[in-house]
Amino acid sequence: MRVLIYENRKQDPILFDVSTDEQMQDALRALFAHFDSDWNFYDSLKEPLPLPESSSYEGYCPTREIDISVNMTKPRQLMPLTYETPCPAACGGTHTMRLKLTRYQEEERRDYESQKPLYEAAKKGDVASLEMLLTERSGHEYEGYDIVETTDPIRFLGEIVKRRNC
Ligand SMILES: [Zn+2]
Repeated sequence: MRVLIYENRKQDPILFDVSTDEQMQDALRALFAHFDSDWNFYDSLKEPLPLPESSSYEGYCPTREIDISVNMTKPRQLMPLTYETPCPAACGGTHTMRLKLTRYQEEERRDYESQKPLYEAAKKGDVASLEMLLTERSGHEYEGYDIVETTDPIRFLGEIVKRRNC
């Protein structure tokens, strides 16, 4: 028998029989609903990404050989990663400005932009999106789960409980 097991240090293990594809889909749907409603793991995906205090852009003018930078404080919307601007030093050309992000901001934004559409689709019952979302986030604390083969799920569960109580 193939089982999906989910546990975390604040919750006792739960087991799903996922021997067939249909059971697997049901289990993933249940896990998603559990994560969403009981654990609120997806709350940040329900809201717009919080706006930074300021955004700065950097570009370069190859004609004048100067760096160009633009700062915006308290942006009222999420700023694009790049935009084109006529040269501020009037070289006559157009230059690409790139949003300066810390590695953390970059990851946060990338995760949000890939996961938000998955979450919305998963909410509407799209199993492929739901599975991708669960997989993509399985590295997060509390969001990992395992799929294992066992001939005796009750004993298997007993062993997990015993290990947890050590
Ligand atoms: Zn220029």
